Amino acid sequence: MTVRVRFAPSPTGSLHMGNVRTALINALFCQKEKGAFVLRFEDTDLEREVPHAEENMLQDFAWLGFCIDESVKGGAYGPYRTRERAARGDYQKALDFLFEKGLAYECFVSKEELDMIRKVRTSQGLPPGYDNRHRDLTEAEKEAFRKEGRKPVIRFKLLDGEIMFTDLVRGDVRYEAKNLGGDPVIVRSNGIPTFTFAGAVDDINQSITHVIRGEDHVTNAAAQVRIFEALEAQVPTFAHLPMLLDTDGGKLSKRLDSLSVKQLREEGFLPESLIGYLASLGTNLEPQLADVKNLAQQFDFNQFSRSPSRFDLDQALRLNAQRLRAMPWQEAKPFIIDALPHGLDEAVLEQFWAVARQNIRQFSEVSTFVDLCFGTIENSDFSVEDKPFIEDALTHLPEGVFNGQTWADWVHTLKKETDRKGKKLFMPLRFALTGQTHGPELAELLPLIGRERALERLQSTLN
Ligand code: GLU
Repeated sequence: MTVRVRFAPSPTGSLHMGNVRTALINALFCQKEKGAFVLRFEDTDLEREVPHAEENMLQDFAWLGFCIDESVKGGAYGPYRTRERAARGDYQKALDFLFEKGLAYECFVSKEELDMIRKVRTSQGLPPGYDNRHRDLTEAEKEAFRKEGRKPVIRFKLLDGEIMFTDLVRGDVRYEAKNLGGDPVIVRSNGIPTFTFAGAVDDINQSITHVIRGEDHVTNAAAQVRIFEALEAQVPTFAHLPMLLDTDGGKLSKRLDSLSVKQLREEGFLPESLIGYLASLGTNLEPQLADVKNLAQQFDFNQFSRSPSRFDLDQALRLNAQRLRAMPWQEAKPFIIDALPHGLDEAVLEQFWAVARQNIRQFSEVSTFVDLCFGTIENSDFSVEDKPFIEDALTHLPEGVFNGQTWADWVHTLKKETDRKGKKLFMPLRFALTGQTHGPELAELLPLIGRERALERLQSTLN
C-alpha cells in the first residue's frame, strides 16, 4: 500500500511555526516511505479567509524544498479545496449514507440552550458538552422547531462504548465515547460541514493512509474513528505530535504563533536552519542544518517524546548564524547586495561579508554593519576626558590605504606615545570609530571603514 499523507491548512493566513512543523513531519515521513504528499486547503471559514494565502503557502513550501505531489496545482485526487469538494457533493453523499444508517440527525438546540446544558452538566460533575437531547426527535417536533425559525445543525451519533486507536506517537489511545462532550456537529446551520466531518470524508476519498497533525486534534480523532467506521472505510493511522510551547512553557505566544515562514524567509532565514531546528523539536536529536532529504532517512516517530516541546527562536537563529558563518560571499551576495552601497569594489564587498557573517544571525541584520562600515554612526555621546587621547590618536593615524595590519601598527604607536593601555586605550577608539562599546574586531573593521571615514569619525568626537 502506498503511503499517502496530507497537510490540510485553512487558507486563513501564512504558515506559522506550529503548522509548518506539522507539515515538515508529514514531509519527512512521506519522503522516507516514498509516499505521496497531498496539500489540501480547508476553505470552510469564509470570514477568516485571507487573500493570497494559498499562493503564499505554496511559495513557502517551495522555499522549504518540500516535495508536494498533489495540490491545487494538480493531482489525481482533486479537487483540493473543501468548497469545491462540497460543490461536487462529496459531503452530501457521505451525509446521506449516515442518515440512512440512522447515525446522523438534525439538532435544533440554540446557543443559549447549549450554554445552559453546559452549566447544568458542569454543576452535576459531568463532562461539559451537549447532552444529545435531540437524537430522537419526532417529525412533528422537528416541524415545530422549524416553524419557530430555528435552523438545525447536523450531529453525528456517537454511540456509547470505548473508542481505541493506535497512535504512532502516543501509543494506544482510548476514550469513552460518552466523555467526548456529546454528539459532534458535522454540518453547521449554514450548511457547511465541520472539519471533523469534511476532513474524514476527504481522507477517505483521497485514500489517505496516515494522518499526522498536532496533539490538539487527538480528541477529534476519537470522533473521526467512529465516522470512518460509520462510512465503512479503513481508519487511517494517526500520529499526533506534541504541542509546541513558548520558551517560558506557555502555549505558543501570539508573537511566535503569528511568526510566519514568510516573515522568516523575508528576514533572511535559510530553509535548512528552520527545517533543522523544527525537526529536532520534541526529539532527542541535536538541531543541525539539514534538508528534508537527509533528515528523512533517519526519521522515526519513536524519536518523539510525549511531552510538549519549546520553540526557542534564539536557538533557531543560532543555527542560522552557523549557516551564515560558513557562507561564501558569492552565495550571500544576492541576499544582501541591495543593502550595500553602490560602487564598492568587489574585494571590499567580499571583505565586508567576511566580517559581517561572523556577527549576524540573519541577513536582515546586515544593515547594521553596512552603517557601521560605510554609513553614518552616532558617537556624539563622547566623554570629555578622552578627548585629548583622541587628538593623539588623530596625530598618529596611519597614512595610506588601511589594511589588516593598520590597527596593530596604530595601537602599537599609541601605547608608546600615550600612557594608555588595555581598556582605556581601546574603548575610546572603538566608541569614536563605531559609536558602540562592543562589536567586531577593529583590526577587521578598520580597512572597511577606511582612512577618510575614520578621520571624520575621530574628528567629530572633538566637536
Ligand atoms: N484545518 C485543520 C487544522 O489546520 C486540519 C486538521 C487536520 O489535519 O485534520 O488544524
